[in-house]
Amino acid sequence: MPLTQIRKVVTAIPGPRSVALMTRKARAVAPGVATTMPVFAVEAAGGIVRDADDNQLIDLGSGIAVTTVGVSAPRVVEAVAAQAAAFTHTCFMVTPYEAYVQVAEALNRLTPGRHEKRTVLFNSGAEAVENAVKIARTFTGKQAVVVFDHAYHGRTNLTMAMTAKSAPYKNGFGPFAPEVYRAPLSYPYRDGVTDGAAAARRAIDVIETQVRAENLAAVVIEPIQGEGGFIVPAPGFLAALADWCRANGVVFVADEVQSGLARTGAMYACEHEDVVPDLVVTAKGVADGLPLSAVTGRAEIMDAPKAGGLGGTYGGNPLACAAALATIATIEADGLIERAQKVGDVLRDRLERLAATDPRIGDVRGRGAMMAVELVGPDGAPDAALARAVAADCHARGVIVLTCGTYGNVLRLLPPLVIDDELLHDGLDVLEEALGGQP
Ligand SMILES: *Cc1c(COP(=O)(O)O)cnc(C)c1O
Repeated sequence: MPLTQIRKVVTAIPGPRSVALMTRKARAVAPGVATTMPVFAVEAAGGIVRDADDNQLIDLGSGIAVTTVGVSAPRVVEAVAAQAAAFTHTCFMVTPYEAYVQVAEALNRLTPGRHEKRTVLFNSGAEAVENAVKIARTFTGKQAVVVFDHAYHGRTNLTMAMTAKSAPYKNGFGPFAPEVYRAPLSYPYRDGVTDGAAAARRAIDVIETQVRAENLAAVVIEPIQGEGGFIVPAPGFLAALADWCRANGVVFVADEVQSGLARTGAMYACEHEDVVPDLVVTAKGVADGLPLSAVTGRAEIMDAPKAGGLGGTYGGNPLACAAALATIATIEADGLIERAQKVGDVLRDRLERLAATDPRIGDVRGRGAMMAVELVGPDGAPDAALARAVAADCHARGVIVLTCGTYGNVLRLLPPLVIDDELLHDGLDVLEEALGGQP
């Protein structure tokens, strides 16, 4: 690995070069694009991001669950360079190329269920979610879409409507796409319902009274919520919803944009619950940072839109396809699903030991290398100020951590799976100190 895998803080964070770049950013870039840390990256490898002032930060965020196989993973770098030399673009809708077909074959093989499948490729998670809805609507001839409390599905017009949280994602950006309805999620820590089937009945009651199956094209759900707070539904919740969808002619869509591709210790998070979705949306972790997303699903559903109905100029760009094939090869050859389980064991063990002595950690949850703590006050109320302060202290000490949650009080950990144990523990030591240092 070109970068030594150690944390190194040699200036204040941000250092002078990053401060100067932030000043230029403020003049040149629209402020709507905010940054978690005011430092500029110049190089990254394994579990380390080096900034413009030569600080080496431990990466516990993977660029929001993207660089699962390690940023610039060797196979990816090689494959993308070779593809760039061969051709950067022809447009798959003009003169197709094999790599797109190979990615489709791979995702048809890797997504849950052994039925006949098809895949279509896009650029972003939001674009793929939109297309899953388009496909479900054409197939069913129905219009309504059900999503859940705390959901995050993206920033386009339809996916803003599907996303729950107003500020900053939706506030002032309306009007939003119609025919999107929200059902209660299973959130065991807050709703106290540990029986997933009972939580599903509560959601289904809302769906049946407020929407009705005869109007409903799709139920779209993140099997483990990402931005909403790494909420793992009670066991049986997803299966009961999927069963209800099947019995009622509704397409069950799993938005695995954040939870997919080995992150949770399974190729897809639905596998932990033996749930087979009709359509699966893949993005973030699939191409090590090159823009690629996909909808994969049952052939009879995917075959519904007519020729020309799906696509886009860049969808399934050859560089992104080369990166995806190399990413998948890396996951499979290097045993990264097992590694995600190991990383998850380390994270859970350390966070649970912390929680045992610190009542401000209300909940430790997640699966594999997608783990979070929910921070609360003495009365159990969300403590966003604490999450912000802990994250800021971690940043100052050279550890990249992200927050999330409807109330902003969740610290989430999404390390790259190639991070070595020593670096991971160093990052968690810093997190522990940062938490201990807060009144
Ligand atoms: C990030 C995310 C999206 C949106 O993906 P983009 O690539 O940012 O458009 C959709 N769904 C989930 C669950 C996500 O985490």
